[in-house]
Amino acid sequence: MQVYADNAATTKMSRAAIEAMLPYLDEIYGNPSSLHTPGQRAKNALEEARERIASCLGCEPREITFTAGGSEADNQALISAAHLGARHSKKHIISTAFEHHAVLHTLKKLEKVGFEVTYLDVHSDGIVRAAEVEAALRPDTCLVSVMYANNEIGTIQPIEAIGQICRQHGVLFHSDAVQAAGHLVLDVKADNIDLLALSAHKFHGPKGVGALYAKRGLALSSIIEGGAQERGKRAGTENIPAIMGMAAALEEACANIQTHSSQTAAQRDKLIAGLQKIPHCALNGDPHKRLPGNVSFCFEGIEGESLLLLLDDQGVYASSGSACTSGSLDPSHVLLAIGRPHEVAHGSLRLTIDAATTDAEVDYMIKTVTEVVERLRSMSPVWRDLQNGKRQYVL
Ligand SMILES: *Cc1c(COP(=O)(O)O)cnc(C)c1O
Repeated sequence: MQVYADNAATTKMSRAAIEAMLPYLDEIYGNPSSLHTPGQRAKNALEEARERIASCLGCEPREITFTAGGSEADNQALISAAHLGARHSKKHIISTAFEHHAVLHTLKKLEKVGFEVTYLDVHSDGIVRAAEVEAALRPDTCLVSVMYANNEIGTIQPIEAIGQICRQHGVLFHSDAVQAAGHLVLDVKADNIDLLALSAHKFHGPKGVGALYAKRGLALSSIIEGGAQERGKRAGTENIPAIMGMAAALEEACANIQTHSSQTAAQRDKLIAGLQKIPHCALNGDPHKRLPGNVSFCFEGIEGESLLLLLDDQGVYASSGSACTSGSLDPSHVLLAIGRPHEVAHGSLRLTIDAATTDAEVDYMIKTVTEVVERLRSMSPVWRDLQNGKRQYVL
């Protein structure tokens, strides 16, 4: 059996998304900035896609700017808010310790040019507290950036409460919603969100395309210089095929959110219950306030990388959710942020399922992970030390 359980990394494109792209890879190839008929056909398609995406988010079409993915949307959101803040000498930003690197690395850059960033602690349940956001506010705070749902441990943040606090205090609020869009019902107006990033390949659309929602009146700074596309906010000829694929994928995902999320959450809970029978392991993040498809565990006495390799041999395609994949041996900043000690954070496993996951695949994952963990522990000197009391169990 082969089970793809890495949907937080990327998803398979939906049929609807592929079919929506095909005409624009073929016959309808005009440049939307051209005034002739083929150009205007492309332009009409582009604006129609913008309307469809806006209606999925509960915003106006002109509040949507297309980007080349979630990372770019996050970069542009933070840089724009920082520029706006600097105009009023507000150079303090509040974020969290477990954001995606698209946010964290942009914040590091802003720190180098004079911004000060408060990184809020994440509690052991993987959730930031809205009251702590409020307590961190200062007169010079220009922006709060808190992700909608975490990509490693799947925990969903109190976005509405944070949005309310930001509105009361007149501070901009950005949310990286790359893991949430198409999986949770989003309403940028109800949640008082000013800036929101999404990425098509996380909801069964194509890679390399995303969108940035920016509330009307909020002046985005362009981070790519060139032509006047996207009302001067993002230069470069629009990737029409990808944008059409994204619109189709998001519409389909949003239309099916209720049915997909209840089915997937039931499978998630079965997977969690099955894996919890393994001794000395722990679920990462709150068991309920998490994405319907996210299962994240730490296992004592094993290395996440070895676990992934053996699972791959058995046809289970998962992730450790750790930075090891980027060639670094540092454990995941997310697991450290929720208080997992280094040695335990190394033994992590993330299984992210979706609507295509079958019950038989869930059973196969439980059986395979249980066997592989047992096998690795039987060869692990650390596990031997734990068993004969030379080392203390953490989990
Ligand atoms: C995948 C991801 C991103 C980056 O999106 P890309 O389209 O791959 O650039 C940003 N934030 C989160 C939470 C993600 O999961």
